Amino acid sequence: MKPETTAIHIPSKQYDGAIAPPIHLSTTFEHGAANELIHGYQYVRHANPNVNDLEARLAALEGGIGAVAFSSGMAAGIALLNILPHDSTIVFHDTIYFDFLTFGRKHLGDWGRIAKIVDCRDEGALRSALGEGAALLWLETPTNPTLDLVDIGAVSKIASEYGAKTLVDGTFATPALQRPFEHGADYVLHSTTKYMGGHSDVQGGALVVRDDKTAIESLLAIRKLTGGVMAPFNAWLTSRGLQTLHCRMEKHCSNALAIATKLETHPAIERVRYPSLPSGADFSIAGQQMTAGGGMVSFDVKGGRDAALRMAAALRLIVNATSLGGTESLIEHRASIEGPETTTPDNLLRLSVGLEHVDDLIEDIAQALQSD
Ligand code: PLP
Repeated sequence: MKPETTAIHIPSKQYDGAIAPPIHLSTTFEHGAANELIHGYQYVRHANPNVNDLEARLAALEGGIGAVAFSSGMAAGIALLNILPHDSTIVFHDTIYFDFLTFGRKHLGDWGRIAKIVDCRDEGALRSALGEGAALLWLETPTNPTLDLVDIGAVSKIASEYGAKTLVDGTFATPALQRPFEHGADYVLHSTTKYMGGHSDVQGGALVVRDDKTAIESLLAIRKLTGGVMAPFNAWLTSRGLQTLHCRMEKHCSNALAIATKLETHPAIERVRYPSLPSGADFSIAGQQMTAGGGMVSFDVKGGRDAALRMAAALRLIVNATSLGGTESLIEHRASIEGPETTTPDNLLRLSVGLEHVDDLIEDIAQALQSD
């Protein structure tokens, strides 16, 4: 089956003839007198049919042996850090999602783990960080919000030389555009809050595992004990979102490419960051590991922070809001939300390109840049 078909016809359960899965809101299921499982489920924090349905879809789409869904993308990522042995070293690429970097810098040490933050595209720096007995290399590609790409194949191969597993946060690309297991990754992380839910109305996260059964068991055990489980209704909505993921991504990508191309020649723009622009530094990596550039475009506005903020404020259709991956276009000045420790350029605006008609988006951007 092609991925678009898999997204709709997963190895799905029978739902008594119903085409859409029912929602199982029951928190508990009948069991035997000595706690024997009768119906396959026991308690909502342990497992739930809707959560299992989503996990089967995610595993099939990424090509892994299984997936474990969580209450958010953060909960999913932190669960993986949690199951690593005490004293593990984790090497983080230095431009990944800000909250994971903050966790690495400020909290991982208290958990008895060691965080090393390096630019993984610098082979010397990467090797020296991995060489100190790293257990995990944490990549994100494309990165939020600078949209840099990391060559998953090259970098995960180096990690494996040192015995480290590789995680790829694939939130921006989704399996519709990038399948990290095919390039050597061991785990894929998703904030399903973004493109998978697809409508800015449901939070969630998931870890997909390529081939390590023990990792799945440990993740399920830690999820049960820490309680960061995805709610059944959220799983149901996300499974529903996944069925249209591929066709939504096509439109996100074509809109984003048109906008990125237009911005490239605009006199008010210093730099456009979009993976599949032929003029971009990562164009060849994009060709190796992505089928299209995605729905996110970041750009640096000439005139610094104030000019960027004026542009964002002058937009009429595109809304200033955090998050991404919904049907509506959203813009955000990331340095403002990331705070004083950010390394994001202060003239950078991140645009989540929605599914509106591209002419309306281009017109809004043009009027906002003109009004400066
Ligand atoms: N990973 C990336 C790349 C993100 O952009 C985000 C959130 O913006 C997360 C993970 C965290 O996901 P959540 O907000 O669902 O916890």
